[in-house]
Amino acid sequence: MTTKNKKIVIAIDGFSSCGKSTFAKAIAARLGYIFIDTGAMYRAVTLFALEQGAIRSGVVDEDAVVALLPQIEITFRFNPRRGASDIYVNGDLAEGRIRSIEVSNCVSGVSSIKQVREKLVAMQQQMGRDRGVVMDGRDIGTVVFPDAELKIFMQADAKVRAERRYKELTEKGDSVTMEEILENVISRDKADMSRAISPLRKAEDAVVLDNSYMNVEEQMEWFLEKYRAAVEA
Ligand code: C5P
Repeated sequence: MTTKNKKIVIAIDGFSSCGKSTFAKAIAARLGYIFIDTGAMYRAVTLFALEQGAIRSGVVDEDAVVALLPQIEITFRFNPRRGASDIYVNGDLAEGRIRSIEVSNCVSGVSSIKQVREKLVAMQQQMGRDRGVVMDGRDIGTVVFPDAELKIFMQADAKVRAERRYKELTEKGDSVTMEEILENVISRDKADMSRAISPLRKAEDAVVLDNSYMNVEEQMEWFLEKYRAAVEA
């Protein structure tokens, strides 16, 4: 196989609202790879748990979430308009609803549950088994694909990240304040880094991308250099 058509796994991990999915989507489109947003999967489980009453007043009932797991079927369907796959929960489109501040505020509590991680990690490994995928999340380079040929760890200034998320949500018509977004970004990072199972951390062999002051084109240029080196390795 020539380096040109060698398919690899590109693992993108990093802090909340760093633009990981935007970056991963652009890379996948450029390379003709499949893009998998694993955060969307944790959000989908959280949405279902909220709807089923396993989370009340922001408190996650872990046993109730685990009991719901066999009832949750998560699927992806490509949406040509977005150039990415939309997520469905038990056949219902959930893409818009999983991005709400309510889901954001509860998702770290759900993603720290061992059985939730086991179910979703197994699905993610299955989706990437033929390689040719760009997967973004928190544990892709460390747990899901420790053998990924290219691992990228993304970070950006917390205020810059909150501003980006604020813009995204208000443009959609959500009524949120900058303060609550910043608080959510900071508390999610803290929870994701300090949980017992698969905490967010940089894989030793990951390259760091700080995109605080980089636009999409600059990030793509940076990426292509790393990608060429990875396929030639
Ligand atoms: O990427 P996004 O911000 O949508 O992820 C939402 C949440 O899902 C994260 O804050 C984290 O708690 C969880 N997550 C995770 N492992 C992943 C992806 C996301 O624990 N691979």
